[in-house]
Amino acid sequence: MKAVTFGGGIHPQYEKARTAQLAVTPLEAPDEVVIPLSQHIGAPAKACVEKGAEVLRGQVIGEPAGYVSSYIHASVSGKVKDVAPAPSMSGAEVMSVIIENDGNDQSEAPEGLGNDWTNADVDQLKDVIYKSGIVGMGGAAFPTHVKLSPPSNKPIDAVMLNGAECEPYLTADHRMMLEHPDAVVTGLRIVQQILGAKRAMIGVEQNKPDAIKTLLEVASGKDIEIVPLKVKYPQGAEKQLIQACLGREVPSGGLPMDVGVVVQNVGTAAAIADAVVRGKPLYERVVTVTGAAIAGPANLLVRVGTSIETVVAACGGVQGELGKLISGGPMMGLAQYTDAVPITKGTSGILLLSTAEVDGDPPGPCIRCGRCVRACPMRLPPTEIATYSEKALLDDAETWGVLDCIECGSCAFECPAHIALVQKIRLGKVAVMATKRKKN
Ligand code: SF4
Ligand code: SF4
Repeated sequence: MKAVTFGGGIHPQYEKARTAQLAVTPLEAPDEVVIPLSQHIGAPAKACVEKGAEVLRGQVIGEPAGYVSSYIHASVSGKVKDVAPAPSMSGAEVMSVIIENDGNDQSEAPEGLGNDWTNADVDQLKDVIYKSGIVGMGGAAFPTHVKLSPPSNKPIDAVMLNGAECEPYLTADHRMMLEHPDAVVTGLRIVQQILGAKRAMIGVEQNKPDAIKTLLEVASGKDIEIVPLKVKYPQGAEKQLIQACLGREVPSGGLPMDVGVVVQNVGTAAAIADAVVRGKPLYERVVTVTGAAIAGPANLLVRVGTSIETVVAACGGVQGELGKLISGGPMMGLAQYTDAVPITKGTSGILLLSTAEVDGDPPGPCIRCGRCVRACPMRLPPTEIATYSEKALLDDAETWGVLDCIECGSCAFECPAHIALVQKIRLGKVAVMATKRKKN
């Protein structure tokens, strides 16, 4: 099969060898979990348990506070110690449910549909996904029930799973495709049934030949296309994946549904299958713990609400000098100032970079080399947008496409002058969006 790709992009060092061959191992549930009520895009959930309440694993502890919001479930059984603001990976304190683990790991009786899911109607399937708190697990954490409810004037003819995992260092999705290919494929078929799409496909980068082979075997006879992708960053970004697999271009300011496509991450697909078939809500996920500064890199199955500190300790602690702690990958992840923050549904990795792995060079002046423009997968002029954003010339930043930036970091990665292009662009984007909101 011929591998496909998109225009632009970069080729960073992938650094996946530390964990690519390590099977996922479950991490023992900690003595205490701190479960943020805001771990998704949209309105934070509202706590529906109080201090002192006894809860079971899988029990609802937070209810959606709007359409774009999500259910939150307990990841251990035990007693609610508090419902209070606590530090989170976003850098802000968010309202959280803190549970003392009683060590019994008692769960609510699961109510999955089993293999009868094929006979369920669309609303029933969507309701299970909604009540199971499923959100995008590739990092964005967008509530899945919303993505599966496109307006009637946007028919979907193709559903696609993102198995690219183009972020360097991360291998959680790779392991998911290798170890749970049935769940991945079942999740895709559930999404296809909900949306009534003719085509179903899974895009996987060529640097995971074992995953491609496994999925080909499991998907055989099910009318699912396994599409090999060239190894290039950001191949897994929705718009780039659609361009590579279908040759369709999502219009400026548009969404995949505008070109008849819905994209889900492979981990999300497996979570959908777990919810629908087994009745398991989303309260744990696979996290890659890696980087030169961690003693024992691993792929771990971690309960939501476990602290980074606990995860790092379970992997043997820090080795050498820690340069940077990141949640997610090095390109789009969030640098953390403390390890006393919890893992959430969107945490694909914990990255401990050594000082040698961190770019410590100070920024210099732009030398007009154009490398950032060639790297940009959205065909934007990063220098102009960053400059206008920095100078708060928001109309100009918008004219040059600040809202189309997907914050992939390719421009900054290529910049020989080490200019913090993405940070500047991100600030411009936030300011433009705030102005628009005020106007509306
Ligand atoms: S301008 Fe935005 S989309 Fe383009 S390379 Fe930079 S971060 Fe990526
Ligand atoms: S890559 Fe850096 S130095 Fe080159 S044009 Fe872009 S901002 Fe300027």
